[in-house]
Amino acid sequence: MSDFLFTRDTPAQYARALHSTVDTVAVHLAGTGGPRSAASPGQLEDLVAAVDLDRPLGDLGAAVDETRRLYLDHAVHFHDPGYMAHLNCPVAIPAVAAEALTAAVNTAVETWDQSTTATLIEQRIVDWTAARIGFPAAGEPDGVFTSGGTQSNLQALFTAREERLSRPHPGTRQERLAGLRIVAGEHAHFSVAKAAHLLGLAPDAVVFVPGTRSGALDVVALERALHDVAASGGEVAAVVATAGTTDLGVIDPLPGVAEACRAHGAWLHVDAAYGGGLLVSPTRRHLLAGIERADSVTVDFHKSWFQPVAASALLLREGRSLRFSTWSAEYLNPRHAVRPNLVDKSLQTTRRFDALKLWMTLRTVGAEEIGRALDRVLDLAQEAGRIVAGAPDMELVAEPVLSTVLFRHVPPGTGEDDADRIVEAVRTALFDSGRAVVASTVLDGRRCLKFTFLNPATTATDVERVLDLIRAAARETAPRPLEAVAGAR
Ligand SMILES: *Cc1c(COP(=O)(O)O)cnc(C)c1O
Repeated sequence: MSDFLFTRDTPAQYARALHSTVDTVAVHLAGTGGPRSAASPGQLEDLVAAVDLDRPLGDLGAAVDETRRLYLDHAVHFHDPGYMAHLNCPVAIPAVAAEALTAAVNTAVETWDQSTTATLIEQRIVDWTAARIGFPAAGEPDGVFTSGGTQSNLQALFTAREERLSRPHPGTRQERLAGLRIVAGEHAHFSVAKAAHLLGLAPDAVVFVPGTRSGALDVVALERALHDVAASGGEVAAVVATAGTTDLGVIDPLPGVAEACRAHGAWLHVDAAYGGGLLVSPTRRHLLAGIERADSVTVDFHKSWFQPVAASALLLREGRSLRFSTWSAEYLNPRHAVRPNLVDKSLQTTRRFDALKLWMTLRTVGAEEIGRALDRVLDLAQEAGRIVAGAPDMELVAEPVLSTVLFRHVPPGTGEDDADRIVEAVRTALFDSGRAVVASTVLDGRRCLKFTFLNPATTATDVERVLDLIRAAARETAPRPLEAVAGAR
């Protein structure tokens, strides 16, 4: 039983377990020779299915060893330079240390009586982030940690809905709900439409505003959309601007959008799940100019801030808007409690102390170091864009803005439809080989490959190497020309 519960009798066991587990993972992480193993889905299914969950191994060392074979050996490793697919990052070491602390203490931050200084630490991180955004102190800005950008966006749009419905307008609540619209750029994250659905809005509640050539929200089209909603007797619950779209990394023109929102009295939500890290960038903070005019902001620390999943926050210009999320229970957070109970601001009840990760990163290396790491991947994306644009068999689909690069591989003599087909064939071949992981998406009806960089250790040499892997995979997966087949006979 000594390897089971953490009690007052077992701190030494905890230390030993942690040391040996951390040793195992450290040795493993140092030795990975690619972002993943080349095992097939069938092999992995067999591995996991072979475990008999009703026959414990009886010893932690054996369980860690088994987990290494099942999990570590086949995990997808974001710290490997061959991983260039999604918005995943290698993690800040102080943040991993924070995870070891919070997991052992098992703090739950929803009430003061379960957390004390953990509540104060989360509050300080929230206040610090709100100040970085530039929210005026007079509005008493506030916020709360969430499980991710999806939940932050949901709570932001819920708050905006309630703010809107609390204003006078003809009609019952049900009638008004049916007329509520969320106006967003065409490249807004899918969680916005999902939130509208969860919030009981009409199926056509999200009005997608076309973008300009760069893919950024067009302010003239936004003005027109806001006008149209009002003219049809509907109400705008919120305008969603994205600071870093997931595919293109484009930042909507925040000052212009904020101005349009002010003119129409509309709530402005800025989804900075991806671009939020620019708040600490030594060279590119200006890209977020105007974000201080938002009513609410989503920031994912587990993307461009190098924090382990999960770490995200919703920040509000006026803290009092969080009252819509408050639901009191006598046993937990009675009304008029003397001490702060963070559950009053959250959609969750039991909640992890995720704020400690960023806190310990700030206390160890500081915000500038996070920003410099982000700057490195943004510089790399620019360089990768130049490499792709300079390659005769590659086509740069859009100029990189943040850390994504969208491109197509077009070997000589390849038609548009063949280039589309190459994308999925190449992506799958690379993943199966375990040597690189890249993503794909569709832009203007054409499928393209996507690099997402969030690893400051990745270099232009890695980019060249993966481009060569792409060329080789395309050659291997191409249908063989007829004459070659004939010649082989
Ligand atoms: C990743 C992302 C989200 C969703 O965030 P999760 O943390 O994955 O829930 C929302 N919006 C944008 C722009 C994103 O890039």
